[in-house]
Amino acid sequence: MTHTLITGGAGFIGSHLAEQLLDAGHTVTVIDDLSTGAIENLDACRANPRFHYHIDTIMHYSLMAELVDRADEIYHLAAAVGVRLILDKPIHTISTNIRGSEIALELAARKGRRVIIASTSEVYGKGSKIPFGEEDDLVLGATSRPRWSYACSKAIDEFLALAYHREHDLPVVVVRLFNTVGPRQTGRYGMVIPRFVQQALAGEPITVYGDGTQTRSFGHVLDVVKALRGLMNEPAAVGRVFNVGNDGEISMADLARLIVKKAQSTSELRFIPFEEAYDENFEDLQRRVPDLSRIRAIIDYHPRFGIEEIVEQVIAYQRGLNA
Ligand code: UDP
Repeated sequence: MTHTLITGGAGFIGSHLAEQLLDAGHTVTVIDDLSTGAIENLDACRANPRFHYHIDTIMHYSLMAELVDRADEIYHLAAAVGVRLILDKPIHTISTNIRGSEIALELAARKGRRVIIASTSEVYGKGSKIPFGEEDDLVLGATSRPRWSYACSKAIDEFLALAYHREHDLPVVVVRLFNTVGPRQTGRYGMVIPRFVQQALAGEPITVYGDGTQTRSFGHVLDVVKALRGLMNEPAAVGRVFNVGNDGEISMADLARLIVKKAQSTSELRFIPFEEAYDENFEDLQRRVPDLSRIRAIIDYHPRFGIEEIVEQVIAYQRGLNA
């Protein structure tokens, strides 16, 4: 029986992964400090005798050493995420993402454990060549703009993971997660879909930042989790970087309109300049679309959920919370 360690397992993505792995017969251990995760996310897991969890930080070296030791494989998802959180807490972002990953990689390398390490599409930055391919240059903004600290911290994680693979044969796979959404995601740290849905259900104005022409490509969390599991089990993925997401593209104004329609809401769209929404040093990205050819060449990867179903599910989820 496979014993899987999920760092950040009480988070939005980690908790869905934990459920799926338990269903598949794994023993699952989660470590999460609940900084952005929530214990309720684990409600479906906690009754399972094959499930164990530690409310603690991944900086707790001796605990992490013990957990890595007991695990056969590790999904390292714990990180500071969310544009809002990153702008509010840049020191926390940089140190959690760099030091935390260093601990996970160092311990995994010592024991030769298989690791999936979560990076982000944010590392592509302001690249204008669409879609974004794994070998493209990273185009980041100035260090005076704190948003880019997130991309830099994750890029360092990627360098470190690949270096551990080269120097110590660590069986590691790097995944660049594009905007991942679905039930359980909170809008507290900036994520657009839960925020728009919340506003639509409350009949409040939908806060579209900028002119709303900027686009994103949203992947359903269950499609993303399936891809992560596929990559974990594919030996040819080791030592490589993969985009994970959905390549359907939608503008934020169209997304807002779709959510209003699906929620049968009376909300209007309110366009808010970026400098008002964040601050004058903020830079947004105009387009972000993954090139999925690399992952498709190696595992069977066909996202099941498009944006319409995603929006319907998030609306149903939030209605359930409000009921
Ligand atoms: N956004 C928006 N209104 C909000 C929150 C976000 O218009 O209340 C926009 C944001 O400016 C960006 C897009 O939605 O263009 C996606 O934002 P999110 O923070 O979800 O993720 P990002 O892709 O920027 O990391």
